[in-house]
Amino acid sequence: LTTGALIAQMLVDPVGLILRWYDELQVAQVSLARLVGVRDIEPAAGDPAVAPDGRDVHADRVHFGYRAGVDVLREVSLEVAPGTRLALVGPSGAGKSTLGRLLAGIYAPRDGRITLGGAELSRMPAEEVRSHVALVNQEHHVFVGSLRDNLLLARTGAADAELWAALGAVDADGWARALGDGLDTEVGSGGVALTPAQAQQIALARLVLADPHTLVLDEATSLLDPRAARHLERSLARVLDGRTVIAIAHRLHTAHDADVIAVVENGRISELGSHDQLVAAEGAYAALWRSWHG
Ligand code: ATP
Repeated sequence: LTTGALIAQMLVDPVGLILRWYDELQVAQVSLARLVGVRDIEPAAGDPAVAPDGRDVHADRVHFGYRAGVDVLREVSLEVAPGTRLALVGPSGAGKSTLGRLLAGIYAPRDGRITLGGAELSRMPAEEVRSHVALVNQEHHVFVGSLRDNLLLARTGAADAELWAALGAVDADGWARALGDGLDTEVGSGGVALTPAQAQQIALARLVLADPHTLVLDEATSLLDPRAARHLERSLARVLDGRTVIAIAHRLHTAHDADVIAVVENGRISELGSHDQLVAAEGAYAALWRSWHG
């Protein structure tokens, strides 16, 4: 079903699908199979152990660029303990989203290492990576197929009761039950048109099913109306609870209560600490905070 839904999407909207991924495909290191999520990449024979032993995330002197000769990240090192909430803040274009994508295993560093529980992300099979860490952003893909197909993408073989529980966990069971055919309802282009908020709830329900312990959350400015956004934030807060969260904070107010804040400037981490520590340090974060607050 997983592959079927993707193939259906390719048949119905191949250009859209390719365009959506076009910029990603320009990255030499990126794996098409990992992006499309169809096939696992098996590590090369003789690789060291690829299964993580723990949940800590480490970046060790990571360098990355989308194009040869243009560095977007330089010498980035950080450690994220399990259950920590880390916020990445900094000016637009500094490299926050790029770092988030690397920490989610979507891109591999050009140099340096990113490890999860001691195992290098870029050497882990894609399926293994996805079972531990997920990227959450506002690009929620509702694929052509039934509501069930769309949920099973996250956990093949899940029973209907588990799918309903996941929908319930993100407050989507009410409207889903009201759909004519329940889980059999066709969604995506050609099927029932879901609102942007409903599509995001489907994405969150997939997260509940996949149950990764680490989430990279790209808090892009919401396109939703304020009421839908508040409703969704409550569901999201429940999904984040108990997991390691690496939040790409485009707005400062979502960062200040994080356990650790990393200031990303010009592809480097320039400051690292709690809100209080960074305000006391009187550096870039303190200046950002004052200008935002004042
Ligand atoms: P913002 O807060 O505006 O989202 P950011 O700190 O998240 O910014 P990134 O989106 O990581 O910054 O961008 C860092 C640099 O990489 C920018 O110069 C950007 O133009 C470039 N960049 C980002 N994504 C791509 C891509 N897919 N292909 C090529 N260059 C990219």
